[in-house]
Amino acid sequence: MVRMDPKIESILDKALAGEEISRTEAVELLKVDENSLEMYVLMSVANTLSRRKFGNSGEVFAQVGINLWPCPKSCAFCSFAGKWNMIKAPLEFSVEEVANRAKAFADAGANAIFLMTSADYPFDRFLEIARAVRAVLAPDIPMVANIGDFGREQAEKLVEAGFQGVYHVLRLREGKDTEIDPQERIKTIEAARDAGLDLSFCVEPIGPEHSLEELVDRMFKGKEFGAVNHACMWRVPVSAGPLAGYEKITEVKLAKVVAVTRIVVGDAIKAMGVHEPGVLALRAGANQIYAETGPNPRDTIEDTSKGRGFSVEACQNLLREAGYTPLEGPSKVFLGRWRK
Ligand code: SF4
Repeated sequence: MVRMDPKIESILDKALAGEEISRTEAVELLKVDENSLEMYVLMSVANTLSRRKFGNSGEVFAQVGINLWPCPKSCAFCSFAGKWNMIKAPLEFSVEEVANRAKAFADAGANAIFLMTSADYPFDRFLEIARAVRAVLAPDIPMVANIGDFGREQAEKLVEAGFQGVYHVLRLREGKDTEIDPQERIKTIEAARDAGLDLSFCVEPIGPEHSLEELVDRMFKGKEFGAVNHACMWRVPVSAGPLAGYEKITEVKLAKVVAVTRIVVGDAIKAMGVHEPGVLALRAGANQIYAETGPNPRDTIEDTSKGRGFSVEACQNLLREAGYTPLEGPSKVFLGRWRK
């Protein structure tokens, strides 16, 4: 006989009815045994919410990493961190190289282009690259900046250079596993929002040491910040630094965190992401994944497209495998909705 835990059933009933769930209820969902009936119903409810909201349409965002050099912020989870001394050959792409890679992604069918640098990359050089990328993209393909912290004036310059959004995150254990004041991260998010840039947020980088409450806090932070795109990302272990002894969380655990995040954030988002891509999370509420090229903090080789990074085609195939139709044309997520 099939019987569900009535407490979990009641929380999921609320979610299906479009009601908000509390932090305590989100923690209860995260406690669900990954081999239980409740786990499959949890995934199914998140899957239903996403298919209802996104109409079986999936998006591919494509990220170009611009530089590989030791970063002074030395986050415990990052292969770029200066203190862990993992970079043997520093690298920086030319303006043309970034523009070519971004155009190749767009030509392959990516729905939005992300440009990423380490936290200390010179802002003016980033703007120069961004303008060159904007010039080779169709005007309606959104550009999203994934860079270090910045203020309101710089946020306005990002808008002028042609960005519609930013990826900016108050990461798990920010200020403890990173050397960045959490308030700086929050101020940047506010500056971006005030300048009219849409926010892509994420529960990241998830490791086995994080408590359920820590994960739930970041789910709610994304909601409070008004993110148009929420996501979850596992931490890929780096071979040096204080977190080197931790394993990666399983794909099943990641799918569970995705499902609970999808339920917590509700229908305010325009896409739910998972990183790195996997079919299980795409059956648990995620409908958006990333293609990547160039340097990447989760990788140890200088071009992630030859390592952990997926191509646009591989992402589209994965979306199809999970029952989504890859969106054609520009993303529906980053529209600069706060722009006056
Ligand atoms: S995660 Fe970003 S800020 Fe932290 S060390 Fe890596 S590049 Fe620097």
